[in-house]
Amino acid sequence: MELDSLYQEVILDHYKHPQHKGLNPVFSAQVHHVNTSCGDEVTLNVTIKDRKITGISWDGQGCSISQASVSMLTDLLIDKTLEEAEVITHSFSELMASKGTSTGDADLLEDAVAFAGVSKFPSRVKCALLGWMAFKDAAVQSQGESK
Ligand code: ZN
Repeated sequence: MELDSLYQEVILDHYKHPQHKGLNPVFSAQVHHVNTSCGDEVTLNVTIKDRKITGISWDGQGCSISQASVSMLTDLLIDKTLEEAEVITHSFSELMASKGTSTGDADLLEDAVAFAGVSKFPSRVKCALLGWMAFKDAAVQSQGESK
């Protein structure tokens, strides 16, 4: 696959130096998602208080795209409200569905626009979305519990 080399560096940097990796035993919701087509796995522990995401910790294994994407997700979503997180998650999903036609909203997605080139490769889109799907699942679970 061809990726702009700067973007490739951003992804590799998160892969080598993952943010918020290592599961926090205190959480509101825990989810485990697997991308069978590539063998990627991620476990997310999400803490939500008063509709604000106060913590996301994670563990996982798999390709650099899947692991770097989770790392960026934690940077982007911690300290956001659920509403803000939904906007960011939606924007990332749209970027991944763009088949290479979108460069992404850098105001919302920051470093995660580095995945724009990945959207041209359907098999890798699943890798990039793994952590985001897991987060959506965790957000739904934690809201169910608070009611
Ligand atoms: Zn993968």
